[in-house]
Amino acid sequence: MNTMSVESIYQDLKTKLHDVVPDVELRLKSEIAFEINKLKKERNAVILGHNYMEPALFYSIPDYVGDSLELSRIASKTEKDIIVFCGVRFMAETAKILSPQKTVLIPAKKAGCSLADGITAEDVRQLKSKFPGVPVVTYVNTTAEVKAESDICCTSSNAVAVVKSLKSETVIFLPDEYLARNVAHETGRHIIFPALTGGDPGNETLLDKPIIGWKARCEVHEKFTVEDIQNVHKQFPDVVILAHPECSPEVVAASDYSGSTTQMIRHVQQTNAPRYLLLTECSMGDNIMAANPEKNMLRLCSIRCPHMNEITLEDTLEALRKTQHVVEVPEEIRVRAYRAVERMLQIIPSAAD
Ligand code: SF4
Repeated sequence: MNTMSVESIYQDLKTKLHDVVPDVELRLKSEIAFEINKLKKERNAVILGHNYMEPALFYSIPDYVGDSLELSRIASKTEKDIIVFCGVRFMAETAKILSPQKTVLIPAKKAGCSLADGITAEDVRQLKSKFPGVPVVTYVNTTAEVKAESDICCTSSNAVAVVKSLKSETVIFLPDEYLARNVAHETGRHIIFPALTGGDPGNETLLDKPIIGWKARCEVHEKFTVEDIQNVHKQFPDVVILAHPECSPEVVAASDYSGSTTQMIRHVQQTNAPRYLLLTECSMGDNIMAANPEKNMLRLCSIRCPHMNEITLEDTLEALRKTQHVVEVPEEIRVRAYRAVERMLQIIPSAAD
């Protein structure tokens, strides 16, 4: 593949993003993107870009874009020597778990996630000792250490299917409180949030085949409220509102559609509403709008994930130049985490986050 010139990158970005990014910024970013694409070829690297990347990056340097799981699947199959993961740390770790022989780079060392930071491997061990024999499902938005303590992983799109596949009366579902509540609702179970201290849970708590949850939240999706939805509906009664399942159950119930990032993109592409509003990370709305100029997307979003925002074109160039921010996962943890991720991939072959 020929590396595009600065001018052709600029023209391409301008066509897609003239409504979203100021022209002067597009010029500057085109130059950086050109350097990255050149270096990518020289270093035999592949760049993966998550759906939440800022638009100029999203449309200029990734070889593949998508959700965290789609990108990890690609990472597991790539022939390239270096994987640059333009996303947050748990995503790059998942790529390393699936592709241990590759060099995995993350452009910004501190690109974390409030969900991944919301639970530790020790918390999971304590839950397992409190509820022995109960299978542990963890959302992919977790550290490798937490995945290593799990029986199976899930994504926001396959969480219900993964829980059902276990055929277990009770399931520990970690760490997202809202995703767990939404899964409990969809599977007709109730949910409990046990304290870790306090000994035996007692038979009563498990009598109704509950989902045992944890109270971590996505700091972006927890901010959307039912009041936001009501206000938008007053102004735009014909709007179709799509909410990510990391939003609260009340927000999901007040929305027209709930799904993972990939499912939301598909829904917009396959339906014909007068206008749409996405209740998720802002950049994704801009990226969908750029790819579907005929769709009317309301640009009311003001919530940018501070962790995703850490990933810039400048830092991506530096990471490639210096081979810096190499993601490592100790082999003993990786092997156990791999089992949990691989089990999900086996059970749910078309999984997507
Ligand atoms: S949007 Fe939420 S879940 Fe995604 S990386 Fe940011 S804090 Fe984590």
